[in-house]
Amino acid sequence: MVEKSLTEYTPLSILKKYYGYTSFRRNQQEIINAILEGRDALCIMPTGGGKSICYQVPAMLLEGITIVISPLISLMKDQVDTLNSIGVPAVYINSTVSQSDQVMMMDEISQGMYKMVYVSPERMESNQFLNFLQQLPISLIAVDEAHCISQWGHDFRPSYAKIGRLIQQLSPRPIIAAFTATATKTVAEDIKKGLLLHSPQDFVSGYERENLAFSVVKTGNKRKYILDFIHNFKGESGIIYTATRKDVEELHGFLEKNGIKTVTYHGGMSEAIRNDHQERFIFDDEKIIIATNAFGMGIDKSNVRYVLHYQLPKSMEGYYQEAGRAGRDGENSECVLLFSSKDVQTQKYLIEQSTSYDDRKEHEYSKLQAMVDYCHTTKCLQTFIVNYFGDESSSECGKCSNCKSDLAEIDVTTEALKIFSCVVRMKERFGVTLIAQVLRGSNNKRIKELGLDQLTTYGIMKDKTEKEISEMTQLFIAEGYLALTTGQYPTVKLTENALSVLKHGEKVLQKIKPVKKEEPVHSELF
Ligand code: ADP
Repeated sequence: MVEKSLTEYTPLSILKKYYGYTSFRRNQQEIINAILEGRDALCIMPTGGGKSICYQVPAMLLEGITIVISPLISLMKDQVDTLNSIGVPAVYINSTVSQSDQVMMMDEISQGMYKMVYVSPERMESNQFLNFLQQLPISLIAVDEAHCISQWGHDFRPSYAKIGRLIQQLSPRPIIAAFTATATKTVAEDIKKGLLLHSPQDFVSGYERENLAFSVVKTGNKRKYILDFIHNFKGESGIIYTATRKDVEELHGFLEKNGIKTVTYHGGMSEAIRNDHQERFIFDDEKIIIATNAFGMGIDKSNVRYVLHYQLPKSMEGYYQEAGRAGRDGENSECVLLFSSKDVQTQKYLIEQSTSYDDRKEHEYSKLQAMVDYCHTTKCLQTFIVNYFGDESSSECGKCSNCKSDLAEIDVTTEALKIFSCVVRMKERFGVTLIAQVLRGSNNKRIKELGLDQLTTYGIMKDKTEKEISEMTQLFIAEGYLALTTGQYPTVKLTENALSVLKHGEKVLQKIKPVKKEEPVHSELF
């Protein structure tokens, strides 16, 4: 129990006494104050930003009980163990607790022996449990990983969608505080509506993580890259994410053969082995874990020095959450994404294989495209990420692979005009590869069949390789001059930005590998 009278404590004194920290991080104090004043709150903080303290401190200061709704059993256990170890009475009720223990715990909760009770969203759906909650003095409901409420988030959980209505059945209605690391504007709105928040105060801590250095690496030999990378980070903790269980096993085998010990984690392993591997990684017995995205939610390991993605993830939300597990202690850490265009096809295949409806698929394609754009942009990667999440910040991080590259910003208006014109000539009906082949003047049979070799733009970039032209086209997509339609075979379209270049002669400056000097383009093309 919190032994002194609650009025003797302030949020800061609780922070110092129980957690041993001397000051609050950005927005923590403000969120705590809002909750203590009885306001609902929507709190968006990057992974590692310190969300837990924002509801745990008020839980200790408010009279009555705080219910924490949390999506993962392992997360509940970790948090409750930590709270108990610092002297805060907390308990969790979930399917791992035996029936008889649940009865005992509920009895103890009724007697006021706990300040915090962690439950899963599914538990909230049980009538019996809801009846039980109705008898309790509940002051605050904290909803962790609140983006799970939105169909448009990346971890939709049907039972989250019911929480709002269930909370309404509690009287008096408790304060509700929702927490998430990644919410676009749509998801934030879904959270507010879904949880029926009352004029919530919004807290957006900014998405940037100053201690993380992002890189996109395009290499033909990912395995060798990983070997060298691990060699440079010898003795440091790291997570390697792969797209499939098979990749986890294969990469594990490869690294083992090269004398590098790793543990694995994916949904196809037994729970006991998974837990064992997770614990060994968390307690530093093993330095490297290779995992699918099944690993990580709620893992609080502070000294992860790098997060390497072996393949392209399917959304920016997922990527930033996974990459954000690096450097929770604030120390400099690396987040590397190994890109190959083959991975885009794999992700598209997975979208096609999913049983989703068409509009859902379309949504997934556009999320994937943002990820592809991230890999092609030559702007600051941290800026790209925060902009994606709706934060307008535009200061460069100075440490990502783009900021550190020696690419100079050069005038590529001529190349842009050629590519944009070709898109117009091809009536916006074809994809990147075919456009590059036409510009290159390829003898491809299909081009002849379609009569594309008759276009005035045919062969006007023959001094470049098809790959160079494709990359440049991808860059113009990433930078918003061109856009791709969604679907498995996207076609390239012009955006307003490209029209400004074509019609009004606006210049296009990009950080790009130097291009060979060439003849001016014939004006009749445009
Ligand atoms: P999140 O849930 O936002 O990902 P956590 O709540 O797990 O993050 O916090 C991440 C880490 O930061 C934890 O180890 C936590 O103890 C630590 N932390 C949180 N707030 C502070 C603070 N004010 N000062 C120092 N460390 C903090």
